[in-house]
Amino acid sequence: MTEPAFLFDLIARQGMARAGVFHTPHGDLMTPVFAPVGTQATVKAVTPQQLEEIGASLVLANTYHLYLRPGAELVAEMGGLHCFMQWPHPILTDSGGFQVFSLADMRKIDEDGVTFKSHIDGSTHRFTPEKSIDIQQKLGADIMMAFDECAEPYDRTYSERAMLRTHAWAERCKQAQTRPDQALFGIVQGGVFADLRQYSAQTIAGMGFSGHAIGGLSVGETKPEMYAMLEVVNCILPENKPRYLMGVGTPQDLVEGIRRGVDIFDCVLPTRLARHQAAMTLNGRINLLNAVHAHDPRPIDEACGCYTCRKFSRAYLRHLVVAKEMLAATLISIHNVYTLLELVRQARQAIIEGRYGAWAEKILQHEL
Ligand SMILES: [Zn+2]
Repeated sequence: MTEPAFLFDLIARQGMARAGVFHTPHGDLMTPVFAPVGTQATVKAVTPQQLEEIGASLVLANTYHLYLRPGAELVAEMGGLHCFMQWPHPILTDSGGFQVFSLADMRKIDEDGVTFKSHIDGSTHRFTPEKSIDIQQKLGADIMMAFDECAEPYDRTYSERAMLRTHAWAERCKQAQTRPDQALFGIVQGGVFADLRQYSAQTIAGMGFSGHAIGGLSVGETKPEMYAMLEVVNCILPENKPRYLMGVGTPQDLVEGIRRGVDIFDCVLPTRLARHQAAMTLNGRINLLNAVHAHDPRPIDEACGCYTCRKFSRAYLRHLVVAKEMLAATLISIHNVYTLLELVRQARQAIIEGRYGAWAEKILQHEL
């Protein structure tokens, strides 16, 4: 089908860094933007209302998980993902590819697709590019991803083969799309190899997607290698479409990714850390189980404006953690997600005001 127009307005640029607005059917995304992850159509331990209050604008949901349980047909029957999970704002779904390659018990890849066994009950399933798009159209997110193959980053032969397959699958995903109200992003692969990344970015950019994702990074390579690949890819990807770095979300990686022209990020880190009693701050992580917090009346971060920090002491949060109360995960998740949302809001403002370099230097002086 003809790609619908999903407009991306660039508001400001500084070096490679960009501030923009991506228009979606469920609202505008102010970029750079960070998306908390709602694997099972829920950001773990946080209600949609709480997410709204901390200023989240985009949530990611996982195609592989929702396909296996409760099933894409059921989500469609309930009015689609926005209605089902009561998140009326933009949603992004991944293609299911990454989970098939990282989670499924058995997988067999061929040129047409992947056969795999469910990690839940061992049943056999098959994803093809057409199947991934069919599932994602039933889920109905604003942004969906082309089906891709993520290779071992250091294996050149495999990286090249997976990249070529990803390109062929990207074209098939485009052909399979029928809904005009969903943006489809193509994914760049190529491991840690600059020439492969270059070729992949040129090929995917030439296919006319609404936006571009950079896959296969933050999967075991070093940070300098990841940053180098971002520079290679973002010099080629067109300026007038958003760029999404998949699965990346430490404060340092957000700052360095934005510096190199990335607009969209997602990561399970803030909510996963919260369930392990770790609070993220721009001065480093705090383990709330630590006895040093037992009598501490201060909030996690005195500079933070989130609900948790406005109301609760470290002593109370530590008590919840020690008593294994569910509220601990909720309150720490609210704080952690807020911290990353606030970080990208500050980054956006710094780009608009032309002081990104100085701002980034200040953020990166701490061990994050
Ligand atoms: Zn806070």
